[in-house]
Amino acid sequence: MPKTILAVDDSATMLQTISLILEREGYKVVTAFDGVEGLKKLEAGERISVIITDLNMPNMDGITFTQEIRKLPKYKFTPVIMVTTESLGGKKDAGKAAGATGWIVKPFQPAQLISVIKKVSP
Ligand SMILES: [Mg+2]
Repeated sequence: MPKTILAVDDSATMLQTISLILEREGYKVVTAFDGVEGLKKLEAGERISVIITDLNMPNMDGITFTQEIRKLPKYKFTPVIMVTTESLGGKKDAGKAAGATGWIVKPFQPAQLISVIKKVSP
C-alpha cells in the first residue's frame, strides 16, 4: 500500500508541484491550504506517514501547525518537513523547537524532496 503524505501550503501552485513530484514517486498525497485545514485532515482521515508544511500561511502558520501536530497522540512522532524560502537562523530554530523533523528550502529540485522524505520515512 502506498504511503500517504499530507502537504500543507497556501500556494496552490506549490501544492500542485509537491503533489506531482510525490505521486510520480508512488505516494498518495492529501493536501490542505493552512494549518487549520491540515489538522482537520489529520484528525479525520487515514494514516499519514509524513507531513510537509509551508511556514508562512494564513489562519495557522507552519510553526503553530507543527506544535499542534505534536499534541496529537497519533502524530506525536510523525516526521514533519518544513518547506520555506527562509533558510536562515531563527525560523529554523523555531521550527525545530516546535517539533519539526526536517527542513527544505524553496526552490528545490524534485530529487531533493524525495530524498528528504525517504530519509525521514524509509
Ligand atoms: Mg506560504
